[in-house]
Amino acid sequence: MDQRTTQDLLATAQRHMTPNYAPPPFVAHRGRGSILWDLDGREYLDFTSGIGVNALGHAHPEVQRAIAEQATRLCHTSNLFYHQGYIELCERLCQLSFGEQVYLCNSGTEAVEGAFKLARRYFYDRGERRRVEFVSTHESFHGRTMGAIAATGQPKYQEGFAPLMPGVRHVSYGDLDELTRAIGAETAAVILEPIQGNAGVNVPPPGYLRAVRDLCTRTGALLIFDEVQTGIGRTGRWFAHQHDDVTPDLLTVAKAIGGGLPLGALVTTRAIGAALQPGLHASTFGGNPVACAAGLAVLRVIEREGLLDNAKIMGDYFAGRLRELGPERVVEVRHRGLMVGITTKLDGKAAVARCRELGLLTNLGGTQGLRFLPPLNVSRAELDRAIDVAAKALAPE
Ligand SMILES: *Cc1c(COP(=O)(O)O)cnc(C)c1O
Repeated sequence: MDQRTTQDLLATAQRHMTPNYAPPPFVAHRGRGSILWDLDGREYLDFTSGIGVNALGHAHPEVQRAIAEQATRLCHTSNLFYHQGYIELCERLCQLSFGEQVYLCNSGTEAVEGAFKLARRYFYDRGERRRVEFVSTHESFHGRTMGAIAATGQPKYQEGFAPLMPGVRHVSYGDLDELTRAIGAETAAVILEPIQGNAGVNVPPPGYLRAVRDLCTRTGALLIFDEVQTGIGRTGRWFAHQHDDVTPDLLTVAKAIGGGLPLGALVTTRAIGAALQPGLHASTFGGNPVACAAGLAVLRVIEREGLLDNAKIMGDYFAGRLRELGPERVVEVRHRGLMVGITTKLDGKAAVARCRELGLLTNLGGTQGLRFLPPLNVSRAELDRAIDVAAKALAPE
């Protein structure tokens, strides 16, 4: 690529990119671990991790090597042929979870669509043809395709896109009574994030996931845990629901699983997975060899370097230090592992901008808050550096 100036690129972006994103005025150029550099050499501490995708930070050497090696051998087969990476990644995800079978796709929203289709088809095959509906939660986020926005419990993502997929009800996250009333003989599945991410790290009340599991089992509805954001070590376990010792029937995974390449997974049991007979569901790119090689490297490094423990230890440390900033800066801290949300006195967008100006990249979490998703191998020194920035950025005017 010819090197162009930031100014030239930003002007071209204004002209030729659809305006659905509103990024800050710099061009990302290079990264290493928790650090991102822009085209002009300015350094940022990146606590967005590409929305939780870069679990090992930027440019992890083992992931780079896996990608490069695979790219020299085989980049794409489509689903017409087996390749080793697909098979091994399915095997690994089953070893790390309740799962017995896995379907690979390219993104979180595709994993969610796959879960909806599989849930409906499962009941169709059993002759329970009324079970076609879904129950989801307010403030949830499940992706941007037509089925996924119907499940997403935030009107701002749905407005102007009607008609949405019919048959979705929403209940308050954490409210068992409402959920009990919403589930019926027509419910195919309940879909839940074990911790709501996009909404700003909403941790449910203790016992909620267990009670939802029991409710689904009692009523015959399937349970889908959407762990696109919480999965792959983010909360200090491979999957967030493992803290509560409950298992879903379907599990959606994406973001961190691909080491930065597009990859998603739908994990389920053999009894349910059996409903996906040949030809019923597919993706041309899904489980691409290069993405699978990256994914296997990510899982290997997390395990070998003990990053689940690091996520827990560093997450607790970071949350503690954020609390120490005091109520005039940080009103509330919610976290599990390195999934950390805070409510600030400032408006969220203003807080994100002020952190960025001082060299810390964060994400909006809800309207009055920030979401921090540092890499799982983040160091204490990097967390301290982020705290110094937050102390200044969030100070009352
Ligand atoms: C990001 C996210 C999605 C959508 O994933 P994409 O890869 O952007 O399609 C779905 N569910 C949850 C919980 C997410 O955080």
